[in-house]
Amino acid sequence: MAKHMIRFRCEQCGKNHDAAVYDGVDVSKEPQFRAKVMDASIFDFVCPDCGAVSGILYPFLYHDPVNRFMVQLVDSTITEDPFTGIFDTEDETDQAIKGVVEDMKERYFLRTVRTPNELMEKIAIFEAGYDDRVIELMKQGIIAADSAGTILHLYYAPTDQGPVLLCEEEAGFTRSFPLDETVYKTIQSAMQFDASETRIDETWARAVLKQGS
Ligand SMILES: [Zn+2]
Repeated sequence: MAKHMIRFRCEQCGKNHDAAVYDGVDVSKEPQFRAKVMDASIFDFVCPDCGAVSGILYPFLYHDPVNRFMVQLVDSTITEDPFTGIFDTEDETDQAIKGVVEDMKERYFLRTVRTPNELMEKIAIFEAGYDDRVIELMKQGIIAADSAGTILHLYYAPTDQGPVLLCEEEAGFTRSFPLDETVYKTIQSAMQFDASETRIDETWARAVLKQGS
């Protein structure tokens, strides 16, 4: 995969340095990158002057063709959907290519995220074979049913006891809800999603529920 240079500022000594970073990775070809993304060490940079480690975000595409998803980490400077035009084909006479493109559109999850944590959550969801849109709607259901109103956010996480939604509250991460497969399947069969939406998060889920109510 192609690399590009970024400039980063050391959090400790304040000096600027250049580093070569990957534009993205295909984990079917380079599986060692999965762990680096999942512990966010791919965003760690060691200062050649003082040795301090700084966490630096840069646009990064995570592609898993086996589980059929691409997640693009974007930064706040990117306002356009990076997937716009990705499957556009100029040559409309080539029906074979068109067929492949349509097939990919249909079966691929294309997502944009803004933080490494969101990227990790998407990877965990898609690797488990779940649809993140259903998960986001389930989160809103739990938040709506939370009579104490203390839940700030929910995060999908696989555990030894099965998948859960981790609950973030003022006090931290103190509890979790097992992922209810029955609720999942009910939402999945009831909803028709717009496949061109690539930014799937709490804001998206709230907008969908508002439309439906
Ligand atoms: Zn330094």
